[in-house]
Amino acid sequence: MSLIIKTEAIVLRAIKYSETSKIVTFYTKELGKIGAIVKGARKRESKVGSALEPMSYVQVVLYVKESREVQLVSQIELIQSFHHIASDLERISVGLSLVEIVNAIVHEQEQNVPLFLLLKDSLSELENLSLSPSFLLWYFELKLSELLGFAPVFDSCGKCKKALTTDAGTSWQLYSISRGSPVCNTCSVTQETLTHLSTNAVQALGKLISIPDVKKLNNNYLEVQKNEEIETFLTKYLQLHVPGFRIPRSREMLKAVS
Ligand SMILES: [Zn+2]
Repeated sequence: MSLIIKTEAIVLRAIKYSETSKIVTFYTKELGKIGAIVKGARKRESKVGSALEPMSYVQVVLYVKESREVQLVSQIELIQSFHHIASDLERISVGLSLVEIVNAIVHEQEQNVPLFLLLKDSLSELENLSLSPSFLLWYFELKLSELLGFAPVFDSCGKCKKALTTDAGTSWQLYSISRGSPVCNTCSVTQETLTHLSTNAVQALGKLISIPDVKKLNNNYLEVQKNEEIETFLTKYLQLHVPGFRIPRSREMLKAVS
């Protein structure tokens, strides 16, 4: 069976295929992740070049045959290229991390409209130069785990469910990464591996995950920046709970140069 589908998509990856063509991995709104050949993309007179860069937001017409592994693009049009992201290294690293993460964790042709919208809107917000790129990455990672059904909690004990206050004068809390929740003092006598998280990080993460929409994200939500601690926590959390997740190469490259 074959069908022709017009859909919005974000370019996850593009590789040279032949003298004139490229194979592009799209994350589409209608069909999820899909690989397709764009013929003529590498010809000098081709107008589709910028539509094929990773992170580009495009409208694409796909000719899909079930028997084929790689599909065919019959039309492609750039909707937005997020050119402000390219203005600084950290913004590029975060933008590329978002597409790398999605590429690593989703399966071919599994539609997930909320995830598509989270990716598209996050790239769009990354264009906002007043917003900290790190906050955006953390927000994306938290919402991603929520969408996949593994949302971490930060305000109650994972064992006895008692509400935990972070303003009781303590500077850290015990956290169970496997449970995805803090563990109160009474319950902390356990065989589980527990991590120490600073109260500031717990508060910041709790605030971040409570923001309903990436468009509402702003730097005011987090007064204290605990960059490395939060980033390390989220990486460990996603590695344990999200199959296929690995530290994005673009993030590692940024750390190597900074
Ligand atoms: Zn407890």
